[in-house]
Amino acid sequence: MSSIVRFSKLIYERGYVTSNQGNLSQRMQDGHFQITPSGIPKSMVLEDNIITVDIKGRVIKGTAVPSMETSMHLGLYAALPNINAIIHAHPVHTTALTLKGVEIDLTQIPEGGDMLGDVPAVKYYPAGSADLAAAAASAAYEGIKAMILCRHGAIAFGEDLLSAYINLERLEYAARLICLGSCEEQ
Ligand SMILES: [Zn+2]
Repeated sequence: MSSIVRFSKLIYERGYVTSNQGNLSQRMQDGHFQITPSGIPKSMVLEDNIITVDIKGRVIKGTAVPSMETSMHLGLYAALPNINAIIHAHPVHTTALTLKGVEIDLTQIPEGGDMLGDVPAVKYYPAGSADLAAAAASAAYEGIKAMILCRHGAIAFGEDLLSAYINLERLEYAARLICLGSCEEQ
């Protein structure tokens, strides 16, 4: 099983996406990118569904429709030459905190500030929009591990899919702790 299929299933099993949410990609050695298809639940993605695109988003290989967030991924790769993998997911606690307007102060816990560094929050734009792609690319900086998309989800970065996955897991763990730690008793 390829990494992109393996991590697609893993983020679904961990509850970081439901239905057909989220998208994963990786930069290949030849300069092209593998990305997950649109519309297929991450739990059910098969090797044959993975699409290869060039830096302009033109399909090089595959018959499925590339993710609706392909331009966001490609814009982030262009902005981050040292990043080789991107996972966009909808982790519940990270997203819930932005719905509640709670600032996610990751410096409160080691898992957050020390390991993730500065995690920028991008204001809401519709999923799949050029505005979202542009806002995400302009919030990216060299060395970034993750960013939050307000009222939408999160993006995690890595030198490979494993490191991107770990950054996603750390962000959601920190957000879950902050969420539980700030719960008001009913
Ligand atoms: Zn999304």
